[in-house]
Amino acid sequence: MVMTQRIAVLGATGSIGDSTLAILAAQPQHYEVYALSGYQHLDKLLALCKQFLPKRVSVPTAAVDDFAQRLGAAGLDIDVVGGAEGLVDIATDSQTDTVVAAIVGAAGLPSTLAAARAGKRILLANKEALVMAGKVMINAVKTHHATLLPLDSEHNAIFQCLPFSIQQDHSQIHELSHGVRKLWLTASGGPFLQKSFAQMQQASVTEAVKHPNWSMGQKISVDSATMMNKGLELIEACHLFDLPENKINVVIHPQSIIHSMVEYSDGSFLAQLGSPDMKTPIAHALSYPNRIDSGSQPLDLFALSALEFVEPDLQKFACLSLARQAMQAGTQATIVLNAANEIAVSAFLEGHIRLTDIADINEQALNDIQLPPLSDTADIEDILAIDKIARHLTDKLVAKLA
Ligand code: NDP
Ligand code: MG
Repeated sequence: MVMTQRIAVLGATGSIGDSTLAILAAQPQHYEVYALSGYQHLDKLLALCKQFLPKRVSVPTAAVDDFAQRLGAAGLDIDVVGGAEGLVDIATDSQTDTVVAAIVGAAGLPSTLAAARAGKRILLANKEALVMAGKVMINAVKTHHATLLPLDSEHNAIFQCLPFSIQQDHSQIHELSHGVRKLWLTASGGPFLQKSFAQMQQASVTEAVKHPNWSMGQKISVDSATMMNKGLELIEACHLFDLPENKINVVIHPQSIIHSMVEYSDGSFLAQLGSPDMKTPIAHALSYPNRIDSGSQPLDLFALSALEFVEPDLQKFACLSLARQAMQAGTQATIVLNAANEIAVSAFLEGHIRLTDIADINEQALNDIQLPPLSDTADIEDILAIDKIARHLTDKLVAKLA
């Protein structure tokens, strides 16, 4: 008998949510949409409820009663839960097999960590959870025998290029094992790769979120424009693959065809290629270790022009260096960097600061907010306490500039 995987899509109304649900809709024999969550786009969530008929749904606490009424009026019998607790409830539900962690930012951390502690299969898009709580997350995965599969296209590519034994056992991934010499994260360089710093300074929100190759949510699109996204991904990779930051290189590859590479000690570079479409890594993780049709456009190798590789300009994309600096300093610093960046990106999207101010604010926050290293027994409360301090102080930095 073929078993169906029961899936909870946290962040169902977002861009990763869209790609995930497109695959689930095409593969009903393998997957059951058990639960969904949304935050602001509740009309869209209602439409998804009508289409997928989940058993449970999570919305902001203030919206629970109204959303339950709307579901009732549509003749749907779906359990509605609210707020951060609702997300944790769904992530740890005994009926949930797989949690797609696709909420953006720090808001995704509690439910992702709860899923790890409940021993779930986690498909991780929410990179901020690892940037804030990498050690705690990985320990929880190991202790509770959860399975963590990266959806971020670069990390998914690296995962695919690693030996099967490493893929199978997180505790075996460590520096220089299995002949792994280095990881290479590819970056598109974003919309300002060919533009000057002065042009970047004048960028409008529309220009900043217009990514050349990928279609994504607003926050990650801005992160791609500043290359903070690659900085967050560097930290994400350190935790996922248990490597120090100096074993992970970043290379700009404007075509976004090679999604990342593993360099081995014998000189081999293994790469994963594909169209820039998140459905590929999502389908890989959903069906791992098998393969399913993702519905993405196959790569047309004959139509490809040259594949280019360029060294990143660390002056223009200072966020990349800040991420290395934070990773060297420790978890307290990566929490500060993540929080400062979330506040700065929101301020840019709201028109209060310039795109290039984001790196300045992140740098100032990293330098001004000096905290003692977090102890090895630190838990989510300690992490959220630092996150709160950093947000508060970054608000002040933004207010000074705005
Ligand atoms: P979107 O902005 O498109 O979607 C974010 C999702 O999170 C939405 O469902 C949104 O709900 C929900 N959400 C936002 N704030 C909260 C909150 N405070 N509490 C609960 N839910 C909330 O983002 P993406 O889909 O682009 O990105 C999601 C994550 O995946 C990010 O961490 C991103 O870095 C990562 N990622 C994304 C990629 C992509 O191609 N998009 C690629 C690789 C990683 P609503 O819309 O209803 O408000
Ligand atoms: Mg990525």
